[in-house]
Amino acid sequence: MKRVRLLVFNAALGVLDYRVPEGMTIEFGSIVVAPLGPRQVLGIVWEPERLSGKEVPESKLRPLLEVMPAPPIPDRLRRLIEWTADYYCAPLSSVARMALGSMAALRGGGTTTEYRLTGTEPARLTPQRAAALDALQHEQASIRELAELASVSEGVLRGMVGAGLLEPVVVDLDRPYPAARPEFAVPQLNDEQRAAADIFVSAVTARKFAPFLLDGVTGSGKTECYFEGVAEAIREGRQVLVLLPEIALTENFLRRFEHRFGVQPVLWHSSLKSSERRRAWRAVVQGSAQVVVGARSALFLPYANLGLIVVDEAHEISFKQDDGVRYNARDVAVMRAKFEKIPVVLASATPALESMQLAEAGVYRKIDLAGRYGGAQLPDIQILDLRAEVPERGRWLAPRLVEAMKDRLAKGEQSLLFLNRRGYAPLTLCRHCGFRFQCPNCTAWLVEHRFSKRLACHHCGHEVPVPEACPECSTGDCLVACGPGVERIADEVAEILPEARTALVTSDTMNTPEAIGDFVAMAEGRAIDIIIGTQLVTKGYHFPELTLVGVVDADLGLEGGDLRAAERTYQQVAQVAGRAGRGAKPGEVLIQTRHPEASVIQALANGDRDAFYAAETEARRDAGAPPFGRWAAIIVSSEDQSEALSAARAIGGTAPNLPDMLVLGPAPAPLSLLRGRHRFRLLINARRSAELQKTLREWLEPLEFPRGVRVNIDIDPYSFV
Ligand code: ADP
Ligand code: ZN
Repeated sequence: MKRVRLLVFNAALGVLDYRVPEGMTIEFGSIVVAPLGPRQVLGIVWEPERLSGKEVPESKLRPLLEVMPAPPIPDRLRRLIEWTADYYCAPLSSVARMALGSMAALRGGGTTTEYRLTGTEPARLTPQRAAALDALQHEQASIRELAELASVSEGVLRGMVGAGLLEPVVVDLDRPYPAARPEFAVPQLNDEQRAAADIFVSAVTARKFAPFLLDGVTGSGKTECYFEGVAEAIREGRQVLVLLPEIALTENFLRRFEHRFGVQPVLWHSSLKSSERRRAWRAVVQGSAQVVVGARSALFLPYANLGLIVVDEAHEISFKQDDGVRYNARDVAVMRAKFEKIPVVLASATPALESMQLAEAGVYRKIDLAGRYGGAQLPDIQILDLRAEVPERGRWLAPRLVEAMKDRLAKGEQSLLFLNRRGYAPLTLCRHCGFRFQCPNCTAWLVEHRFSKRLACHHCGHEVPVPEACPECSTGDCLVACGPGVERIADEVAEILPEARTALVTSDTMNTPEAIGDFVAMAEGRAIDIIIGTQLVTKGYHFPELTLVGVVDADLGLEGGDLRAAERTYQQVAQVAGRAGRGAKPGEVLIQTRHPEASVIQALANGDRDAFYAAETEARRDAGAPPFGRWAAIIVSSEDQSEALSAARAIGGTAPNLPDMLVLGPAPAPLSLLRGRHRFRLLINARRSAELQKTLREWLEPLEFPRGVRVNIDIDPYSFV
């Protein structure tokens, strides 16, 4: 190759052409460094005919500076990047960026020095050194990381190195991960599980694109089944990617994986330390990372030799990214499997309607696990009509639920209360003047958090201490909390059952792997009687002694701007109900609601999943909603309200008039102020036949907006706020 066209990681720069200097070997996908004015840019060598740009004359071409010592981005991943950018109307460079690790990862190689205790223990020690000796048993890390672990200064540790208490260890930055052992602990599968597992094993061996929907009730052993596919891929020397909806679930997964395969898998998520990120990326591109488990960002990594993708809890909406490239990792995972020519398993107890539809249409092969493993029964689900069974004044748990909790406590069994709302109370107001605490940056109330004694916005993170007096009328001691959050439910439980040992499980309390690990160990060790949590506790956990689940407010999910509200309510309640009765003892679920007649509540009560899917399918068909029609949102925002409005109007005014597309708006978005930006929204409802993305591009590309205006396109949006 004599001249190349680069995709660089800055959409504003467009594509850039360069000359390949004598002696440099380049192929498509090579990651290179090129000069740009006085600076240097990183780019990927791309097929020139696939990147439109102005041809630069030969004489003006500058030479590339360097090829990075990393394998080229494979052809099949370049095609996936193009597909994703095209489908989600996103800049190619933003998608491509997700394939790369850090600059350090690209360079690879090298060593670093870490430190560990030598085992020497002098007779006399300063308190800091004693604390460090205590805290650093079995640890090995950089001085900075050790200082953080031990809560002492780096100076103290350097002193300890001098005194021979800590010793340096030279570590290979790219040291390989220990090998997973497919035969480490092979489970005895039951017939139904065996049949499913065999299908995955042969699909891995066949090395062809094959999408599966693994539809199994909670506790049926979906993980055990797809693990057999994972084992086969490992035997064949191929890599596996397991996508989980959120990092909070990885802890549980890691333990199960280690139990089955003898080692931990390779982790990938946004909060890895830079050395971990670099090591993981190198192992991914070299093919030595056998199984990678991660959040959605793991999807675009340049695997050398992918053999299987699993999307666990595939119905979860957190697979949809809501900023930057607004892609749905579940859907892109299926596309990736297609380009890689491998099987992909979407596993769920409550599949998304879209997935069910694709299975029905024969696009996905559906595999059912109808029964719980080991004879465990699905729980008995009962509706608790809050209009008839009224909680005591100022309380949120109805008497029947309280009685059931008392009963479990007496028997030494566990209960779980689910309320998908963090904090103490969603709204705080002044009893005297009616003042309501609102976020200055967002259309949202501030949520009281009692533990941190703060009022916080859940959209932008704005926080203020809870004031003594009303900021409006200065009356003291006049603030009233309205409505419950999980913290308030925890208080109520402490009042009703002071002897119960409780655990509060929310992203505020369970924000590190250690915290989650401690919680799981305590719950399994029966050191917890009552768990109170948000959606974090709805999935993944298996506590055999948990026999009662109380859904504090099943109506909560039905409010708000979510077009899949009924489906989400169904999924959340079914998932959390699935935590009950997973062991030998039967489970009971009590659902508190003010709308017992709602079809989703009825379907839950009757355990009639088919009826729910059938009714929801018809409702979607009538509304032209997915999977029968398509939605897209255009969100126009600016710090200046009138600027945002006129831009939105300009877009509305040039909307194409097509028979298969309906454009609604512009209208103020439900969250009309977010992080200080005023937001207007247009919604597009299109028939499946419409060329939605092409139309959007042709419509929006010619328009020009002031600099402060941002126009975001959201294809297949989940949240309508
Ligand atoms: P799901 O993901 O479908 O909810 P899990 O895979 O978590 O189900 O299985 C539920 C529980 O049953 C887990 O503790 C799992 O280890 C156990 N289990 C399932 N199948 C088997 C099996 N064949 N042998 C041993 N334990 C099993
Ligand atoms: Zn805010």
